[in-house]
Parts: sequence; C-alpha cells; structure tokens
Amino acid sequence: MDKFSILKHNFGHSRFRQGQEELIDAILSGRDVLGVMPTGGGKSLCYQVPALMLSGVTLVISPLISLMKDQVSALKKSGITAAYINSSLTSDQLRLVYERTRKGAYKLLYIAPERLITKEFLALVQKIEISLVSVDEAHCISQWGQDFRPSYLKIADFIDTLPHRPVVAAFTATATAEVQQDIIRLLRLIDPMCNVTGFDRPNLFFDVQSPKNKMSVLLNLLQERKEKNGIIYCATRASVERICQHLCDKGISATCYHAGLDESTRRSNQNAFQFDRKNVMVATNAFGMGIDKSNVNFVIHYNMPKSLEAYYQEAGRAGRDGEPADCILLFSAGDIETARFLIKSSSNEELSEDAQALVRQKDYERLQTMVSYCKTTKCLRGHILDYFGQKHEAVCGNCGNCKSSYQLNDITIPAQMILSCVIRVKENLGYFVGKTLIIQTLRGSKEKRILDLGLNRLSTYGLMNKMTAEQVRSLIDFLELEGYLHVNSLHSTLEPTPTASSVLFKGKKVFMPVRTGSASFTTEKNIRQTELSSGSKEVDNLFAVLKAVRTQIAQQENVPAYIVFSNATLMDMAVKAPRTMAEFLDVSGVGETKAARYGKVFLKAIAAQKEDSAHES
Ligand code: ADP
Ligand code: ZN
Repeated sequence: MDKFSILKHNFGHSRFRQGQEELIDAILSGRDVLGVMPTGGGKSLCYQVPALMLSGVTLVISPLISLMKDQVSALKKSGITAAYINSSLTSDQLRLVYERTRKGAYKLLYIAPERLITKEFLALVQKIEISLVSVDEAHCISQWGQDFRPSYLKIADFIDTLPHRPVVAAFTATATAEVQQDIIRLLRLIDPMCNVTGFDRPNLFFDVQSPKNKMSVLLNLLQERKEKNGIIYCATRASVERICQHLCDKGISATCYHAGLDESTRRSNQNAFQFDRKNVMVATNAFGMGIDKSNVNFVIHYNMPKSLEAYYQEAGRAGRDGEPADCILLFSAGDIETARFLIKSSSNEELSEDAQALVRQKDYERLQTMVSYCKTTKCLRGHILDYFGQKHEAVCGNCGNCKSSYQLNDITIPAQMILSCVIRVKENLGYFVGKTLIIQTLRGSKEKRILDLGLNRLSTYGLMNKMTAEQVRSLIDFLELEGYLHVNSLHSTLEPTPTASSVLFKGKKVFMPVRTGSASFTTEKNIRQTELSSGSKEVDNLFAVLKAVRTQIAQQENVPAYIVFSNATLMDMAVKAPRTMAEFLDVSGVGETKAARYGKVFLKAIAAQKEDSAHES
C-alpha cells in the first residue's frame, strides 16, 4: 500500500498535515530526519506510516512509559501489530514479546530508553531486521532541557551495535535551535532532513512597549478594545488582584484567576470569561491550561514572563479563530528582577541540589532570551521563530517593530553622569544605594535623606536637574538592560558592571533606540480586517457560511482556522463565488495543494448557498 492508502485505511485521515508528508518521504527515501512540531501536530503518524511500508520492524524509543500501553492498543485497533517493552511487564510477558519480535510479529515495537542496552535486547537485535529507529521526545537527550534523560545518551551507541544501520528519525515539540543541534549531534543523525513547522501564527500581531506608566497604557489599550475579549497576564497573584480591582473600578468588565483562589471561585470566574459574560480575564500563568476559547482578541502581558516559550504559549491563546489578534507585552526593567526572584525562589524537591542548580542556570539563560525579545528593534515574529528554529522572512510586516521606525539617540553623556554618580555615592558612603536615591541625587533633590547622607556635596549632585524623575529612571533602566548597571537582588542596590568602565573611561558611546514611527497595534487595518464586509448582503452571508466551513475543517484537522484559509481569502471567495475547481483556483490565497485539499467542500457549500438564496428571492 502507498502512504495515502495507509493514511486512509489505517488511520482514517484523508490528507497529511503540514510537514508530515515531507518527513515521511524523507524516511522512505532512507534519510534521517528531525521533525519539530508543536504538541498535537501529528508527529506519531510520521513514523507510523513508514513503519507499515518498510520491511523490518520500527523501534520507537519513548520515555513516556505510561503512554506506551495506550499507543500500542490504539495501533492494534487500527489493525497494526505492535508491542512495548518497559518496566511494567512481568518476565513472562517480556519473554513472549521477545519471542514474537524474533519471529517478526510486530511492525512497531515501543521501548523505554533504559531497556535498549539490556543484554537480552542487545542479543535480540542482532537477529532481527530493524528498518527504522524513531526517537520520541528527542529533546530529552539535551542536557540543557528540563527533561534531560541520561539514558538517551546511549541511543547512538545502541544504534552502532546494529548489524545494519537503520534510518533514524527524531521528533520533538520543544524546538529551540540550540536543542535541535544537540539532538542532531548526540543522536549522530546523518545529514538529516530537518522539518520545523507549525510555529508561526500569522494572524497574531506582536508588540513590546516599555511604558513609564503601565496602568495608564493598559487602560488605553482596553479603551481601544471595548467590545473585545482578552487576557491580561501578570507575574504575581497580588498584582492580578490589584489590577483586576482597578479595572473593575474603571467600569471594565473584568474577572480574575490565580492558583490562590478557591476552586469554586476559579471555576465561576473562568466560566464568566469562557462564555463571554466578562470581557477581560486578569490572571497569572495558572490560567490557560486546557482552555480553548477561540475568540480571544488580545493577550496583554502586564509583566514579562520568564521565558520565550512561556510567552509564546500564553500569547498564542489569542486569535485561535484565525481573526487578527494582538499580543502586547508591557515591559519594564523591574520585570527582570521579578523574574529573577521567581527563578531563584523556585524549587523542585524531586531534583538533587546539583540538578536544581543546573535547571536554574538554564532558567536564567531562557530569561535572557526573553529579555532580548523585549529589547530587540528587529522583527519580533522573526525573533520568536528563530528561537524555535523555524525559517521565516526577515520582515513580517505585522509586528510593532516591522511597523515602526527607530532612531538612535546618543545618550553617552547622560550615561556617564549616571554611572559616575553610582560610583561616587559608593565611594562616599561605602555602600551602594537603590535607584531612587541615585535619581534624587542626580536631580538635585532637597529630600532630607539626601541631605542627611551628604549626597548634596557630591560633584554629580544636580547634574540632571533639567530632567524629570521618569526620564532619568528610563535612562537608568536602559543602562541596566544594556548591562552597564545591574540591581543587586539581595539588597536591591544599583551597581555598575565591569562594562561600565568602557563608557566612563574608554570613550565607548551609548545609543538608545527610540521609536519614531507609530506602531499602533489597533491599526485601522486590524479593525477593518476583523469587520471585513463587502457591502453586499449576499456576499456577507456567503462569507459567514464559508467561515463556518473553515471552522469545521479546522476542528477536524485540529489546526487554527487561519491555517486553512485566511479571512481575506474567504472574502475573495465569497465575492467570486466560484463554481468550478478552475474558478476556485482563481481565488487569491488558493494554491494547488489547498484547492485539492479543500476545494470540494467549499465548492459544495457555495453551491448550496446559491441555491438557498435563489429559493428565497
Ligand atoms: P503529537 O505527537 O505531535 O502531539 P499526535 O501524533 O498525537 O500529535 O497527533 C495529534 C492528533 O492529530 C491525533 O488525534 C491524530 O489522530 C491527529 N492527526 C495526526 N495526523 C493527522 C492528519 N493527517 N489528519 C487528521 N488528523 C491527524
Ligand atoms: Zn515583524
């Protein structure tokens, strides 16, 4: 049977999803592969289909012992012979599986990684034909991930002991470029075909803002989105409560969610949001798991999350319906401190001290990637896709940075003032102080504390008396972001880093990018898109029908709606109302593949709609 018949016959699906076919073809041609798809993307099929077409057995290495049984029963139900080897089997059961494997009874054999190198298994594999080794959850091989499994490091050696080297296929959903490289190197994949798909969400608009006053910016953002639904993520429970209260006081229809609320409050708040009784959900990251509300128009982060993975997951809850949606992060240097604190105080009792230290170290690195997302002046979407290793255009045209221009301001002189003030204060008092005192000193404040400490006698006192406290603070924040200053997390004191001396003594210039062009996220374009309308009732009706068809397909295929067709394509389709496949191909955004895939269903819906309206008139 060919791959299409197997797909239909054994798995009951009529077409492959994005990425699956390429991976399957590569495996069948004898090439190693690395497949990276988000959870639910359909990775299993990529090795199960070839497994049925190759002559020998396919070995599936998986750390998820508890899932093996289910996977094997599911395969058996589809008429595929399969078994598993893990610690849950009795020795009698194990013997039986070995015996049947030797006789070639199985097309797929699932095995836990630590079982590969047992004497019995090593002896067995000398006598059987293994066509394909599929490594599930391949990121477990990377010591940098949180799921590191030492037994994964033995897989490559195991493969070397086989009489014939099989094709090796690795799959994972955790896809940072760094981890991908680890997988290729440590599994010793040979010239693998790498396929990273499904991470881009074109209908999401991304933006980062560093406002002086987050609350007033937040209120503005909500003002512009009055009738819309959205989530506001905050770093702590306390800020969730405070912000939710504040929004309610302002007459915004908001509710909240965090792990500190009792079960029934959580449920009722969640339902209020889910069923559109409340427009805005203010929540910690505890909110969202397993929630599949499709009409979330925006996700605003009031604080920066700890990692880009977390950010993308949370922001990705916007626009599941394929409509344009906004993902806006309100960033301040203080967020870095909060995130550092959260990482520092997190603990995992299951891990040893050393392992925890390693995890923390990695957490700090992930935080750094998150911070660089907040600081970049380049395409934000590109930054995210780079991190997940997916190829992309240099400029996406639908993020805050792509839509605005930046001007570089030379801030070398104020930077020198600030840095030398920090150092002078330390020389004078014998210890470092916090941001506020530095700002007051620079602005020549007459506060009692300043005078008591004698900071008014410093040469840097009053150097920036023409600036507002906020302006000075934003300069300090920028120097902190750039790594010239850092806040000592123990004492909350502002301290210079070794690189500060390059600015003070070596003539290094400091430039601060300032957005000039407007990057308004509620661009009229976005609003217009959401309310796409043709002006003709007939076309609008058809548009609504086509959207319903799209929703159905998206649900069947378990993909966001825009993956099927964008709104613009559906609108063009509604206007052209094609009757034949040739006409269908004429709709903008419809290519050969999609026409073959979806043409029939849409043509049928269009014809039915035409008939209905003919009857009506
Ligand atoms: P992953 O391992 O990537 O998380 P799975 O392999 O478990 O994802 O697949 C997720 C779901 O998608 C399963 O229910 C599977 O049946 C379904 N699926 C996979 N491929 C297709 C396809 N080509 N068409 C329709 N459904 C599919
Ligand atoms: Zn962009």
